[in-house]
Amino acid sequence: MAPTTLTHFIGGEKIAGTSNRFADVFEPMTGDVTARVPLANAAEVRHAVEVANAAQPRWADTNPQRRARVFMRFVELLNRHADEIAHLMSREHGKTIPDSHGDLQRGLEVAEFCIGIPHLLKGEFTEGAGPGIDIYSMRQPLGVVAGITPFNFPAMIPLWKAAPAIACGNAFILKPSERDPSVPLMLAELFLEAGLPKGIFNVVNGDKEAVDAILDDPGIAAVGFVGSSDIAQYVYARGAANGKRVQAFGGAKNHMIVMPDADMDMAADALIGAAFGSAGERCMAISVAVPVGEGAAEALRGKLVPKIESLKVGPSTSPDADFGPLVTRAHLERVRNYVDIGVGEGAELVVDGRGFKMQGYENGFYMGGCLFDRVRTDMRIYKEEIFGPVLSILRAADYAEALALANSHEYANGVAIYTRDGDAARDFAAKVEVGMVGINVPIPVPLAYYTFGGWRRSGFGDLNQHGADGIRFYTRTKTVTSRWPTGVKEGAQFAMPTMK
Ligand code: NAD
Repeated sequence: MAPTTLTHFIGGEKIAGTSNRFADVFEPMTGDVTARVPLANAAEVRHAVEVANAAQPRWADTNPQRRARVFMRFVELLNRHADEIAHLMSREHGKTIPDSHGDLQRGLEVAEFCIGIPHLLKGEFTEGAGPGIDIYSMRQPLGVVAGITPFNFPAMIPLWKAAPAIACGNAFILKPSERDPSVPLMLAELFLEAGLPKGIFNVVNGDKEAVDAILDDPGIAAVGFVGSSDIAQYVYARGAANGKRVQAFGGAKNHMIVMPDADMDMAADALIGAAFGSAGERCMAISVAVPVGEGAAEALRGKLVPKIESLKVGPSTSPDADFGPLVTRAHLERVRNYVDIGVGEGAELVVDGRGFKMQGYENGFYMGGCLFDRVRTDMRIYKEEIFGPVLSILRAADYAEALALANSHEYANGVAIYTRDGDAARDFAAKVEVGMVGINVPIPVPLAYYTFGGWRRSGFGDLNQHGADGIRFYTRTKTVTSRWPTGVKEGAQFAMPTMK
């Protein structure tokens, strides 16, 4: 079948690209090109900003209860179209259908959270702060804001950005990943069907050129970014230099500490799912297992090896695949290359998935699960994010060494500890310097009403994503000090006014 040509979605309409630049969109399961996505230039971004800017004041004036009703209908539509969205997602991303449902659900839950926007936007009020003086604060939208999102969660992360921004009364421009743009385009149609006015949720497809135009456009007040760390840092620096509010979340190297007293079966099962689910293409995937003590290391390795050897890799539509192909051939080559690097660095490759071929899908982007043991901290396979189905074991002599590992890696997104010892778990939660912590939970992605964010090079800027921070990021606070009645005559005061 000839590839379809995708569009942007601006002002409630599908708009053809005018830049004459396109990127191929693949079906990783077969390796086929299924679509061409237009790559916007600065003029196209400018047009989207103008459209969004024209629509925004009226939306901001729509009372929050009415805005909440749009979200109620939107959530209902997401549920109704869940199968269709999941299939579309699996087709372009490569993840399995149940995994795509999980991606959608975690985004949908943030939209559900936004149904509470009338409550979430309530300000503060102090009656009688001084003679006749009341003080109150309010949260106001920023205007036009943007989100730039990665390939690996094409529904969840766009919704983490767009839903709070829109609920707060902003107009939103999404620049999704050019590798899987179809789900974001479908979200735009569903928002419209839910009653969101035209121009409030816009999708501008593109690559670096569109990102730079967003970062430089004076009409965009805030940018929320998620992607790899070097680009996150670049987006943060360029956006902030242009006076924008920016939060930019980056890559990860998440450790799982396995204490000698842990239930090893439970820990091994948790590791398998967290390391190899979604082919390891998750920012909260566990990529480093840190057994504490030689006994734990041998026991864990013994349990992991047969489980990794029997992982079922399959086409995204296969009902019994544990994970599907990687997103593109270029990414597959990059991950395979990391395995070569690890071998060259002297790590012990215990399970080698590089040669895996999927029968009947020879052009798909598949590889099997890989396990390295005896990985050291000076190796590139430890220091860098691989973002594929590759798990490393780094043996720690004791708990202090394991904790220090998690605390000294440049990435600090998520971390987990497996133990039956409450003292160790509590100490770990208090002392580990990582944004999200799991205690006997391998992928501690906080629910919608908490906030998500990593530390060090996993997150640049201030405030986390979704939850209360999502509302704070997409609003600014105004504080009003008022005096009624005005009859109190104080005369001119030249000293700094206080309530002393
Ligand atoms: P990526 O950095 O390649 O792309 C992210 C976005 O930046 C895309 O929209 C892309 O078009 C744009 N982009 C790419 N190159 C650019 C450039 N040179 N200049 C400006 N913009 C550019 O990331 P990806 O491969 O799509 O996603 C995987 C990465 O995202 C991993 O590093 C993963 O850990 C990270 N991630 C982080 C989180 C988190 O919340 N911390 C969540 C999911 C994914």
